[in-house]
Amino acid sequence: MPIEPHDTTPLISLGQSDYRRDIYPHDLITKPKTTTMKNVLTYSALNTFRNCPRKYKHRYLDHLRRPERPDALAFGSVIHGALERWHRQATDEPTTTRLFQIFDYLDAQFPQREGDEKQKHQWHIARAMFAGYSDRYEHEEFEVVEVEKEFQAEIRNPDTNRLSQTFVIAGKADGIVRLHGELYLLEHKTASAITSDYLDRLWTDTQIALYCHYLRELGYPIIGVIYNVLLKTRLKQRVGETQQEFEARRAELAAKNKSGRSTAKQQMPETDDEFRARLAAWYARSESFHRERIYLSEDRMAMLQEEVWEITQQYLDARRRGKWLLNTSNCFSYQRPCEYLAYCQSGFSPNVRDNLFEVAPPHEELVELTIGGADASDDTDF
Ligand code: SF4
Repeated sequence: MPIEPHDTTPLISLGQSDYRRDIYPHDLITKPKTTTMKNVLTYSALNTFRNCPRKYKHRYLDHLRRPERPDALAFGSVIHGALERWHRQATDEPTTTRLFQIFDYLDAQFPQREGDEKQKHQWHIARAMFAGYSDRYEHEEFEVVEVEKEFQAEIRNPDTNRLSQTFVIAGKADGIVRLHGELYLLEHKTASAITSDYLDRLWTDTQIALYCHYLRELGYPIIGVIYNVLLKTRLKQRVGETQQEFEARRAELAAKNKSGRSTAKQQMPETDDEFRARLAAWYARSESFHRERIYLSEDRMAMLQEEVWEITQQYLDARRRGKWLLNTSNCFSYQRPCEYLAYCQSGFSPNVRDNLFEVAPPHEELVELTIGGADASDDTDF
């Protein structure tokens, strides 16, 4: 006779002294493991482990983080936030109304701009960038289907197709758009220059290829990626010359002149309006924005699945053995020292750790999900 999961008649009552426990039919059914019981891995976590297992430990297990945030990251996040709002807006609203909403958002991101030159500079650029963007893409060629789409998907053993019992993968895609009837992932980038090297590097963007794979599994038949690249100008507001600097320059010019005189004038600081006009002209150029479309091959998707699986295997092995290797060839990648360099150099001194780092959970972009790296009881059951 089939067992009804919610039968209210106990099969047997167990008791001893003042302890009593009724056993119902549904207590005997083995419940399948749900994905919420698994550890969530993000691409950042996977990639960090692949690049340097020790760095993974610092960031994802010990939750160590430098308190300050690099400027480039902070600016990129602000622009990201602006693009998210822009693509969430109803496109039938007038462009100026939409743009003013974005300006309100940008103004709120730089609250100290009156007294802080750095903030003021970034605020000028962000506003000019967005004004240029809204002009350039007033009428989008694609239809926005999803914005900031979060997902959580199963990791599979590519040889057996069995689900990982330990991990699921999670991520957040900037957007999904429909173009000529096909779905694409939309990925925003801010860059300081768009060179052929930069465009070539987009082909190596493993994160996005993985996102496509997992979003396909969740029912979005994505065929490629549209990279939405916004250039960050290097223009700076001119500060002008001090009297001393001007006199030194004038004397130098006069010395080169046969008459021993110079008609040079003192360079005055550029006003906000003048700087805004220069920025607006810069962002009116077509090359200040770029869209690159990339298609993804099935072969590449399959290879990535294998890579993900292999990395999870290596991760489990490292955790089981408590060995987090230092990959010193990664200490100076991205043209700057790793944020944990001093800590590793010190031999993991608690003093260095406490002075340089704060403890903050990772996966800021996925705060509502379980954090990867927690202990799992079934490491070997893949
Ligand atoms: S400093 Fe080098 S060894 Fe240490 S965590 Fe960073 S990349 Fe790894």
